[in-house]
Amino acid sequence: MNNTKSITKSITKCITKRNTISNTAILDIFNSSDPGLLEQLAREAQSLTRQYFGRAISLYAPLYLSNYCANQCVYCGFHAGRAIPRLKLDAADIERECRALAQTGIQSLLLLTGESRRHTPPEYLEQALKIAGKYFANVSIEVYPLETAEYARLRAAGCDGMTVFQETYDRERYQLLHPAGRKRDYDYRYQTPRRAAQAGLRQITLGPLLGLSDWRQDVLALYDHLRGLEKEFPGVDYALSFPRLQKLGGYDDSGYLVGDADMVKIICCTRLLFPRVGINLSTRESAAFRDRAVSFGVTKISAGSSTAVGGYADTGHRAESKCQFEINDERPVNAIKTMLERQGFDPVFTDWRCLAAG
Ligand code: SF4
Repeated sequence: MNNTKSITKSITKCITKRNTISNTAILDIFNSSDPGLLEQLAREAQSLTRQYFGRAISLYAPLYLSNYCANQCVYCGFHAGRAIPRLKLDAADIERECRALAQTGIQSLLLLTGESRRHTPPEYLEQALKIAGKYFANVSIEVYPLETAEYARLRAAGCDGMTVFQETYDRERYQLLHPAGRKRDYDYRYQTPRRAAQAGLRQITLGPLLGLSDWRQDVLALYDHLRGLEKEFPGVDYALSFPRLQKLGGYDDSGYLVGDADMVKIICCTRLLFPRVGINLSTRESAAFRDRAVSFGVTKISAGSSTAVGGYADTGHRAESKCQFEINDERPVNAIKTMLERQGFDPVFTDWRCLAAG
């Protein structure tokens, strides 16, 4: 029963018992629309974030290397069946992109590709990591799922971390949404962060793509996924990300929409349940929402982002390249930095540097 008393009890349990709280109690919070409870959640989340992260918020930017993809995710503008110009940066292009992005002050980079092993094999990723390592203090990847030995090889080339989205944890919806390609294998994807951890990657980011199925069940399943990983690989630095689906791919299933108040609940509950875990917020979100959400528990935000292949420098690809999704916060890096400072946060450009890389 969703009455105020029982939900307040759930929040209190959330604060005091964290990982031992039942899914039913978390669902009580997710289903509540009481603004007073939302405020209480936000206050507690803010206080825990200050306790564990101080006022630091790290900045990063994505760099798209390629939009070739062998999968057919029905919600994505890059899927294999779409007739869009397919592009892949060569070494000189990557160098130009990295140089242009580094000039904005960004020091933390996420390299992305569509999921095509054929077009962007591990050797290609290795080369891109080595180039990026000359310009950025830390470099992570968001590419197709790899084997443990391949992650180890990329780690040796300077890869600090990886991101993988399970998209949805609802197996039935997952099969419907991923009709072809390697990504159809739910379990292989689910085990991907485990293989990355086995290879010794320092930082792992997980998440669902909110809007593909019931967000409440997806977020609960994500928490279980994270708990399993934390138990098996306690030394890894974990972060969660909660991108919301956009309509760029022509896919529209408004039955699973996730509102702003829901997003705030997700961020706050995540902080209460996992006080030390990083929470990322991308430029998929609007400037207005990001400006508010940074105070609830977010620890890392993207800035000055382009989601087009060759989107930063004049590589000649910019005009042809389609974006994987629309950016809703187009402010440059300096404007994000100023926004954070105005709110009393410390924007952090380098929160980790590999000593071995000098
Ligand atoms: S979501 Fe990723 S794997 Fe799926 S079609 Fe788009 S780029 Fe390919």
